[in-house]
Amino acid sequence: MSIFTPITELIKQQLLTQLCENLEDAIFILDANLRYMSVNATYEIMIGYHEAFLVGRPLGIYAAEFLAEKERIILNNIASNLENGGFYENNFAMATRYGQTLNCHMTFRNIFIEGTLYHIGMVRDISAVIKDKEKVDHLLNYDQITGLPNRKVFLSQTSELLLESYQEVVLVRFNIDRYRTLVSTLGTNNVNTLIEHFVARVRQLDMDNLHCFSHFGGDDFALLFEFSDAHMVRHQLDILMQMCERPFLLKDNIIYLHISVGVSYFPEHGNQLAGLLTKAEKALDHIKQHGGDDVCWYHEGINAATSNSLQLEAELRIAIDECQFIPHYQPKIALATGAITGFEALVRWQHPTRGLLNPIEFIDGIIKNKLSFELFCQMALQTAKQLAIWEAMGLTQHICINADAAEFSHPEFFNFISSLFTKHYIHPHQLHIEVTESSLMLRHASVKKQLAVLKDLGIYLALDDFGTGYASLSYLQEYPFDFIKIDKSFISKIVDDHTQHAIVKAILDLATALDMKVIAEGIETEAQRDLLLKIGCTYGQGYWFSRPVTAEAATAMLTQEQKKIHLNT
Ligand code: C2E
Ligand code: MG
Ligand code: MG
Repeated sequence: MSIFTPITELIKQQLLTQLCENLEDAIFILDANLRYMSVNATYEIMIGYHEAFLVGRPLGIYAAEFLAEKERIILNNIASNLENGGFYENNFAMATRYGQTLNCHMTFRNIFIEGTLYHIGMVRDISAVIKDKEKVDHLLNYDQITGLPNRKVFLSQTSELLLESYQEVVLVRFNIDRYRTLVSTLGTNNVNTLIEHFVARVRQLDMDNLHCFSHFGGDDFALLFEFSDAHMVRHQLDILMQMCERPFLLKDNIIYLHISVGVSYFPEHGNQLAGLLTKAEKALDHIKQHGGDDVCWYHEGINAATSNSLQLEAELRIAIDECQFIPHYQPKIALATGAITGFEALVRWQHPTRGLLNPIEFIDGIIKNKLSFELFCQMALQTAKQLAIWEAMGLTQHICINADAAEFSHPEFFNFISSLFTKHYIHPHQLHIEVTESSLMLRHASVKKQLAVLKDLGIYLALDDFGTGYASLSYLQEYPFDFIKIDKSFISKIVDDHTQHAIVKAILDLATALDMKVIAEGIETEAQRDLLLKIGCTYGQGYWFSRPVTAEAATAMLTQEQKKIHLNT
């Protein structure tokens, strides 16, 4: 074992002196009057002055001859802290000889040696740490694409303003309409560029009394205003909407952006941030549901509409679970003979408190809440059972069910249809499916394939409400329809209006050319029936023959007709 040699005082002094010189932290020694006595090499490098220049000069005066007021206060603060507690630390922005400002953490402590007071200062450059912190702060508080304050900042600024303001505080929430379509057609990068242009334009508007313009992400923005009267914001919002009427140019594409705007304000709509924000958002949702491209101020009616639609959704789900939807049947008639050739199943909602409801009261709710497939299943099941009952009575019939083309994309749709035929022993020809022209147009490509599959299964297909969509007659040949149903709006005027008459005639000619049969909807008078028969329409439906009726009434119609046939034979 080697012999341990204790360190001498001299070596210790030398070691400590070298350590101080090589330390990453800068060190300086001041006298009792805060004048430099010595500094280490790191300090020299840090501030750009040699020790020889600094010695004898007061702390802080190395760049200027005399201290600025602000620096004097800082120095006094250091001095009084050292005098009272012997220690002081703080962060400082320190100017260097080269004009840079370093962010530093400094500690000062008093040391007495042989009755003399010295102040030792240690300085650590924390510029990198502060930069990182600034970066993190930026990430946490600003949108990375637009650089605008984010939702968090907007909320804190709003709550501050609500506490401080003696005026009315206006919260504006706005979205860019059709944002998803823009992303899918232009791509995310282009849309981000578009958003940057948009934000630049909003900034240029330099809106009066604006406290915060915030980007919540994507197409989602907010504005915070303060006015003596909240309604003064209307002018600013007009300017905003007008700005959107000028097109944006993006890589040779001309793009028009429309926005939907929801407004709430303190004190009218409350004094709590959360409530005000929710109300502005409700107003925004409301205007979006009504086509967008407009401004909506929050009012109680919106609340009622929202709670109505929430209640409707809850009721619709119960109705599906409890099979409250039932079909009524309207006969389809061979115009020449008046004979029933089939039925259309039309849904009715046996509502527990409101009685029997027609589709106008709930079909939009069904589509909006994505319950179309469930409704279709319920209607198709009851229809299949009805066909089986009639079959057993010797009344072979077909029933036509209405469908929204969106249902065809449901993963269970085709399985369900196939199982229907096997479970209820009905022939595919006994089931017809009709889709409206408008639901077809929205899903052009996929629907074509799905209709072809249905056709292959042996199901007859009908195009409902023909003439009400945006379709040109020529697109008809692309689809495998067996029937075209001319919308009742044409039939109602056919007797007196030459144009409607000519249109119906043209549809009949086209259908003949395409080998499709035509059913006229909404025949209400004998004259209409006669005229349609005269111009070559074979089938019809309408109140003239029968309104939609219950299954029992439809059965009675069929049995009566059967009796008539027996009597005549
Ligand atoms: P639609 O399929 O075109 O059905 C014809 C509508 O016209 C029915 O209204 C029927 O009652 C009515 N109607 C029949 N004859 C006449 C007439 O002579 N004059 C007048 N003014 N109207 C007549 P309803 O039952 O209220 O159905 C409205 C719409 O709701 C249907 O129009 C259909 O698009 C939809 N719908 C009905 N049932 C279902 C269903 O089960 N599923 C889906 N997805 N939609 C359905
Ligand atoms: Mg129909
Ligand atoms: Mg129709």
